[in-house]
Amino acid sequence: MTVRRGYHFFQNPGPTNIPERVLRAMDRSVIDFHGAEFKALSDECFAGLKRIFKTKGAVLAYAATGHGAWESALLNILSPGEKILVVDCGFFSMNWGMRGETFGLEVETLPGDWRLPANPERLEARLREDRDHKIKAVLAVHNETSTGVAHPIKELREAIDAARHPALFLVDTISSLASFDFRMDEWGVDVVVAGSQKGLMLPAGMAFIGVGDRALAASAEAKLPRLYWDWRRLLEGSSQSLWNGTAPVHFFYGLRESLLMIEEEGLENVFARHHRLAEATRRAVEVWRGNDGPEFYALDPGARSDTVTAVWLPEDHDGDKVRGIALERFNVALGGGLGHLKGRLVRIGHLGDLNETMILGALGAVEMSFSLAGVPYGKGGVAAAMEYLVRGE
Ligand code: PLP
Repeated sequence: MTVRRGYHFFQNPGPTNIPERVLRAMDRSVIDFHGAEFKALSDECFAGLKRIFKTKGAVLAYAATGHGAWESALLNILSPGEKILVVDCGFFSMNWGMRGETFGLEVETLPGDWRLPANPERLEARLREDRDHKIKAVLAVHNETSTGVAHPIKELREAIDAARHPALFLVDTISSLASFDFRMDEWGVDVVVAGSQKGLMLPAGMAFIGVGDRALAASAEAKLPRLYWDWRRLLEGSSQSLWNGTAPVHFFYGLRESLLMIEEEGLENVFARHHRLAEATRRAVEVWRGNDGPEFYALDPGARSDTVTAVWLPEDHDGDKVRGIALERFNVALGGGLGHLKGRLVRIGHLGDLNETMILGALGAVEMSFSLAGVPYGKGGVAAAMEYLVRGE
């Protein structure tokens, strides 16, 4: 057995590091989830989540992964045979859309280049063609964790409006929420899908869903079968009042602490920190690109994600080998390529409870792992990241 000392650096783009404070907040005995104490705790958490989602609508929660929230979003607003349009931008967008077929929906994809941000003009043009409004919902992923591309949600909404199309707009914020700018109400998002294990710095296993008024109205008409996921079971007035089965009270203690941490730092400062650490990572990748080394998978510099950087390995080099070395030799966990990108990428997560020293440690491990895996790269990536962190430019 390998004996490891020191911290395990967790640089997957989710789940993320769980802060000691959150762990300690959860380290306590159980309370009655029917009682007033739990009600007060969960009310406080839902109020905090609404501030993060930036919505006056409802936020609901399930004991589930993000996959559960994906299903909840579809089942509550659609009827069998109805059509959805998936903005294809990567592994996660397609994975979400695929579920529609399982539920008997007609699924159309709006084709896109995974290396580029989604194109609002293309969406507008497709919706204009849909004169009899067969498309009932447009699905988009804010931050494609599989590619490191952040997608223009505000502009995609504007495209729907410009086409004067009534489709509901459903957005996955699983790897963007509480990490970079997202505004549910201002951007006109009808349903928001989120998870606990990324920007919210909690263990995996809790999923959240933001429900706007139009989506709520649609849920009254929707005919897809649903029970556990049914918003109506959870809602009373405009906030979650009931829970399906036994409430995971410990999650709520953790969530209260993570929301407190985010508010202590200030959401805008959380965003600024994510941007700074992402930019340091990007500085390293720019240098690694030298010597015919790895490059950004995301082609548009303005759309590179502040939570994950996908590094594309030179032809004939295996990203999973690099990741294996990083884990075995340096105790650093990194993300890999998903779907057809398996082995082609190393994804460096830089989200959640993270600081300068942690990202530099991770970048150092990536650089050393390139070396050991025989991947050509330009030397000095970590130094460039340090330079940026010192000078801020
Ligand atoms: N959507 C995005 C953008 C993700 O990054 C992930 C997971 O990484 C998911 C959905 C799926 O979430 P979960 O693994 O919690 O089901």
